[in-house]
Amino acid sequence: MNINKTINNLLPQMKKWRHHIHQNPEIAYEEKGTSDFIASKLNEFGIEVHRGFGGTGLIGVIYGKDNGTSNKSIGIRADMDALPMTEKTNLAYSSKNEGRMHACGHDGHTTMLMGAAKYLSETKNFYGKVYCIFQPAEEGGNAGAKSMINDGLFNKFKIDSVWGIHNWPGVPIGEAVVHKGFTMAGGDILVITIEGKGGHAAQPQFSNDPIVSAGLTIIGLQTLISRQLDPFEKAVLSLTKIEGGSAFNVIPDTVQIGGTLRSTNNFTREIMLSKIKNVVTNACAINNCKVNVEIRPGYPPTINDIKSAQLAAKIFQNTFGKNSINTEETPTMGSEDFSYMLQEKPGAYIWLGAGINSEKLHSAHYDFNDELLPIGAQYWSNLAETILAQ
Ligand SMILES: [Zn+2]
Ligand SMILES: [Zn+2]
Repeated sequence: MNINKTINNLLPQMKKWRHHIHQNPEIAYEEKGTSDFIASKLNEFGIEVHRGFGGTGLIGVIYGKDNGTSNKSIGIRADMDALPMTEKTNLAYSSKNEGRMHACGHDGHTTMLMGAAKYLSETKNFYGKVYCIFQPAEEGGNAGAKSMINDGLFNKFKIDSVWGIHNWPGVPIGEAVVHKGFTMAGGDILVITIEGKGGHAAQPQFSNDPIVSAGLTIIGLQTLISRQLDPFEKAVLSLTKIEGGSAFNVIPDTVQIGGTLRSTNNFTREIMLSKIKNVVTNACAINNCKVNVEIRPGYPPTINDIKSAQLAAKIFQNTFGKNSINTEETPTMGSEDFSYMLQEKPGAYIWLGAGINSEKLHSAHYDFNDELLPIGAQYWSNLAETILAQ
């Protein structure tokens, strides 16, 4: 492993910052203290700070040795939010905020970027600009990345490409997983409301039975993935909720079915959503029921730009050795809102190994591994110095 001396010397400070953030966790859009802390450190390093993007989000701009005149730039993103859960680690720097915990390592992601920012602002061994993007609200469908984009992230700043890291338990320390393309799934919520005509259970001829329509709908939808999706594509459709009826002898007026569609690219997602509507409408028409399909959009699939993924892998390998990159790891059906940034700009999102035996993300016993701090800061610095070499 090849961590340079300056970054290694930053480790004690980075640990302090990380433990401070860990001890003061804040959830989606409430990251005021965290945002203030990052802003004060960036100011201390002499970095220009822009605040108020997506509420608590902020951007630090670092100018290269040409004072940023070359017009080239990259954006590096870290997430700041914690989770609404109670920590059980018993660490000296455990959460001081009841019911709030950094159980996904966003305290570490933020610190790795702060470390890289300090290094890059001191050494300035690049041309153009590095934008350090600290976003709120990655967790729980709150889409802080989207809020920052809506507030003009890519209109106010000319950012050529975007880059992200998530620490990943189960992958050895000093290694990273890079996917050439699909990394994480898109997740949409479906709410299907079937409207029939209720009546006496003994006189079904006067009713339009929504319970039977619900049955046909469920069976119809469960043939979609196996019969109507290209076998080389992947998606998951799970129906997880059903509500209707109140008595043994009454046919109800309505039944509601809920579930989720997970898809691996936007093309499949759009096709599946339209096929779902078609199947549901037809299944309900058999029984003269009306139906409304509400789609609550979740995060889109996270898809790396192939060239950027190759470049990220090469830069990581140049620093940490030939065997440090795994491109074969199975992607996950979990979601990530960095996908919104990747829809706007090319870039890559990598999983940084947090150790084979590390506690899993979102566990009450999880803690970000401080060994990753210099690894992440070094990768970010090398990425900036390589892409902005001239
Ligand atoms: Zn998480
Ligand atoms: Zn996370």
